[in-house]
Amino acid sequence: MERSILKELSLFLETSPSCFHAIDNIKNILFGEQFTQLHENKKWKLNNGSRYFVTRNDSSIIAFTVPDREMAGMRIIASHSDSPAFKVKENPELETDGQYIRLNVERYGGMLCAPWLDRPLSVAGRVIVKDRQRGLCSRLVNIDRDLLLIPNLAIHMNREANDGYKYNAQKDMLPLYGAFTAKGTFMKLIADAAGVEESDILGQDLFLYNRQKASIWGASEEFISCGRLDDLQCAFASLKGFLAGEKASHLAVYCVLDSEEVGNTTKQGAASTFLYDTLTRIHDSLCYTHEDYLIHLADSFMISADNAHAVHPNHPDKSDPSNRPYLNGGIVLKFNANQKYCTDGISAAMFRDICSAAGVPVQTFANRSDMAGGSTLGNISNTQVALNTADIGLPQLAMHSPYETAGVKDTAYLIRAAAAFYC
Ligand code: ZN
Repeated sequence: MERSILKELSLFLETSPSCFHAIDNIKNILFGEQFTQLHENKKWKLNNGSRYFVTRNDSSIIAFTVPDREMAGMRIIASHSDSPAFKVKENPELETDGQYIRLNVERYGGMLCAPWLDRPLSVAGRVIVKDRQRGLCSRLVNIDRDLLLIPNLAIHMNREANDGYKYNAQKDMLPLYGAFTAKGTFMKLIADAAGVEESDILGQDLFLYNRQKASIWGASEEFISCGRLDDLQCAFASLKGFLAGEKASHLAVYCVLDSEEVGNTTKQGAASTFLYDTLTRIHDSLCYTHEDYLIHLADSFMISADNAHAVHPNHPDKSDPSNRPYLNGGIVLKFNANQKYCTDGISAAMFRDICSAAGVPVQTFANRSDMAGGSTLGNISNTQVALNTADIGLPQLAMHSPYETAGVKDTAYLIRAAAAFYC
């Protein structure tokens, strides 16, 4: 069971090199489970006992199942589709000495820079093309081969490299694309991969990604490493739980939202109206009143699922002295007094109750009191749709590296807890 889940997870991570690919993969899984796609620019006619999904910007998705009886409230799990990476700029080709062609890129989100160097990379994302019949449309692109590399500067030319180095994003982080003969070919390569003419590409959102595949390793194969575990591990596990859950009496809602790594404030992020718009439209279409929506909201619960920091083997002092999550130790419930995480006494109790019934172990996370931590989508989303929410995640190491590490057991724990949650 665990092995087959890990295989599926690895495939999902490897075939999701950008947020657009992740959402496309989720869509295809939902189509396979007889979900119907809704469109925000068309009328919705929903039926009790049916299943639907809607996307925004092709980088966020909300799927839901309507109970076949009077709705008893909502059960929502939200995770995020994006990961820190380097985004390819417009007019990306740069020359060096008439000998090399590099790509001009900029940071998307707060990544660890060092592990992006000296490893094969490629490019994935989407292009917006002019189609003679259909007007503007989006095409996924993945150059599925080793294409780029960001070479380190030799130690002889930077003797202080091992004493702490400040990476300059405009100088140190630009990938080498080819010899000078590659000049003028990058966008042609992208166009060929999209099956269009270069002149038909009118817009692009292209990102670098690490080519290294998922690996299961350790003395007893207890660890899994891959890019984008934050947060596609939660997106995957909550999807499996969503599909397995009974969903009898609650509106079951599965969300994967874009833009978490850059503050959530896009039209499709957790700070947008996407979730609110979708929930209120569901209520309208099912002939519930706005007051019914508010009553349901008061009887609802949300799990904001975004990966958590496990205790680091070489830096155990960086973790809180009494809240110390470990890989393979179970789902991490996150706390912060200043509500960067929205778990409180009530939502913690609700989440622990679900996990205890499902036989799933729960660990706790808090930042050291003298260290500022990150934040996530739960409290941001609550400004649009306010309901009891617990912030959770799966324990991992090296968050925001292009190759992150987690435990092999924890994905299955979240699947089990999510399935029990969607009752
Ligand atoms: Zn995250």
